[in-house]
Amino acid sequence: MTSTDILRTSAASQAAALAAGEISSAELTAAHLDRIDAVDGDLHAFLHVSRDEALTTARDVDTRRAAGEELHPLAGVPVAVKDVVVTEGIPTTAASKILEGWVPPYDATLVEKLRAAGLPILGKTNMDEFAMGSSTENSAFGLTRNPWDRERIPGGSGGGSAAAVGAFEAPLAIGTDTGGSIRQPASVTGTVGVKPTYGSVSRYGLIAMASSLDQAGPVTRTVADAALLHELIAGHDARDSTSLTDPVGAYAAAAGRKDVKGLRIGVIEQLEGEAFAPEVSARFTESLSLLEQAGAEIVRVSCPNFGYTLGAYYLIMPSEASSNLAKFDGMRFGLRVVPEESPTAESVMKATRGQGFGDEVKRRILLGTYALSAGYYDAYYGSAQKVRTLVQRDFASAFEKVDVLASPTAPTVAFRLGEKVDDPLAMYANDIATIPANLAGVPGISLPSGLAEDGLPAGIQFLAPARGDERLYQVGGALEALLEDSWGGPLLDRAPDLAGGADR
Ligand code: GLN
Repeated sequence: MTSTDILRTSAASQAAALAAGEISSAELTAAHLDRIDAVDGDLHAFLHVSRDEALTTARDVDTRRAAGEELHPLAGVPVAVKDVVVTEGIPTTAASKILEGWVPPYDATLVEKLRAAGLPILGKTNMDEFAMGSSTENSAFGLTRNPWDRERIPGGSGGGSAAAVGAFEAPLAIGTDTGGSIRQPASVTGTVGVKPTYGSVSRYGLIAMASSLDQAGPVTRTVADAALLHELIAGHDARDSTSLTDPVGAYAAAAGRKDVKGLRIGVIEQLEGEAFAPEVSARFTESLSLLEQAGAEIVRVSCPNFGYTLGAYYLIMPSEASSNLAKFDGMRFGLRVVPEESPTAESVMKATRGQGFGDEVKRRILLGTYALSAGYYDAYYGSAQKVRTLVQRDFASAFEKVDVLASPTAPTVAFRLGEKVDDPLAMYANDIATIPANLAGVPGISLPSGLAEDGLPAGIQFLAPARGDERLYQVGGALEALLEDSWGGPLLDRAPDLAGGADR
């Protein structure tokens, strides 16, 4: 196998090739860096490429392997990291001008784990500023294009991670999901994304957006790869006060089971119908039929409060964000704008925040500050928290009847660049199916369900009870195998080849 062929294989296959001595990590990493050089000028999935560091890690892993050292199964397989996760010595901006030029002095816990396991870090991926958005058009450093159609959005906020994996620039990527930012980009790029149970992956070193909703997770090309990466980054961390103490689940084993006999799958009635594009719905229904033929039981389940989740989320998330973003004050990190006249602490903060934050970030700070203000707190934030409790109860009663819940991940295939960027409400509506999981802290997976409108990928989402992540890998792994049998191979094999520059 040449080093270019290997780019299109799964991370697990790349790991096997490394273990068998068919390729070195230095060669594998260089091949990915060459791919980035070839296609990323156009796609712009990366904000920063850490070439030298990645190659140094790769050579070190090769040396250790040659010396017979016992290595992590993913050692030497490169990874890309969303730019909202801090990386010691590698610039981290959260795609905001306010952090331009900031080089963190420490690693996020999950990055420590990636480094300790010997995964070369290819670089930092583009995103909506501070993870606010569904299209990556809110990045202060320019948009990312969808590898399937360069006039379309790659989803958001983690569009860079999904585009990098979908375009074979990286076999593995890290995303974060506060309201869908792992699952929705995965859905529109034909990749796999997992939002773990809240508390399962440490939030230490994630630049916080909404701390009660934020969760990091894998973006990959196969369900098994997501399981491997999830196992690597999960686990208790004393530095995150909401970190679970549970042992890490056997996700890879669950992904390999490929058996859904007797599994009860609930279709969420509130996440069906007109809000979803016809072909997205059709691929969803076909996926469920395949699972039913394989022995799963499909039932319909009502989650009556899901109609209020968008409203609740867009109060809770900005409220928490307005508080979390108060630390960007021109004093401690990144940008500092000093007005010539009267440079007081207050005027520096005002000028820095005025110039450093983009429009969407300002909108949410304003919304959140308003929702939390005395006199409005009960009406807005308080009501939203009550809805959150009701949503948690909806999940609890649904999971008394079924093992997992299912819906399409996103209402449509990738929309056109520019189509919704000036209409915040239309943009927020993309999150209708992904937000409930964050409000309740339950885990979710999105995987490709097939090609829908305009020949573009659609996604199917499964949700499980908190701590039930293994079920997601079980049903996801089984469906992926059934679908790939019906397609005759992975969906991404049908994406246009960017290297050739051919347009769809
Ligand atoms: N699209 C959602 C938002 O804009 C999701 C963001 C996220 O998950 N980081 O808030």
